[in-house]
Amino acid sequence: MRIVLLGPPGAGKGTQAVRIAEKYAVPHISTGDIFRANVKEGTPLGLKAKEYMTKGLLVPDELVCDLVEDRVSKEDCANGYLLDGFPRTVFQAEHFDAFLKAKGEEIDYVLDIEVAEEQLLPRMIGRRVCRNCGKPYHVDFFPPKVEGVCDVCGGEVYQRDDDREETVKNRFRVYQEQTAPLIEYYTGSGKLAPIDGAKGQDEVFGEICALLG
Ligand code: ADP
Ligand code: ADP
Ligand code: ZN
Repeated sequence: MRIVLLGPPGAGKGTQAVRIAEKYAVPHISTGDIFRANVKEGTPLGLKAKEYMTKGLLVPDELVCDLVEDRVSKEDCANGYLLDGFPRTVFQAEHFDAFLKAKGEEIDYVLDIEVAEEQLLPRMIGRRVCRNCGKPYHVDFFPPKVEGVCDVCGGEVYQRDDDREETVKNRFRVYQEQTAPLIEYYTGSGKLAPIDGAKGQDEVFGEICALLG
């Protein structure tokens, strides 16, 4: 099963991705997590990506496409995978579709998690994530059991630099301009499924499971 998660920043992609990956036994591939790991390690890719990420801009397409295409070519992706945060531009979607087509493969589901913007801002400002495994938390809605410590892996739970209010507003704008056109791109493919992301985390997961079977 090859699944793409679409939706604005803060919609709950990462939160649902962890649960989907576990239930359907597919690797969770988050481009944001991959970039953050590279930034942390100070790799050449990380140094380049950081310039864009701290401003709330997208990392250029040419740094993203090969990275994802190499990742999904690994053995653990043979039975499918879950893409969280990719594609994010029409260029990435077209590039990826061409890559799949050449292998006789296709995406099975594009889940578009929909949440109104006024609900997104408090989610983003209060978001905390595990530095080690990437699991998202929220200071008010989903705090870790022990403050600052990941429930799952014991890693440090911190606030991302780009989750501060100024950058968040930029990211919403970037989403509208560069990522939202993907909804139209995938409409007509018969694969796009709108998911109501405004509900509680369990209800959203229930809606996704009902769809994936
Ligand atoms: P995305 O990956 O789409 O940016 P996240 O999964 O990181 O979104 O979620 C953003 C923030 O909102 C996190 O702090 C998370 O704990 C919280 N969150 C996720 N799903 C819900 C939900 N259904 N209701 C309320 N808050 C949520
Ligand atoms: P969110 O959880 O808010 O949706 P992500 O963790 O997915 O954010 O992404 C964080 C940042 O990483 C983005 O603002 C962007 O700079 C970069 N990024 C992640 N995925 C992509 C992508 N597919 N194309 C370009 N930039 C990306
Ligand atoms: Zn963790």
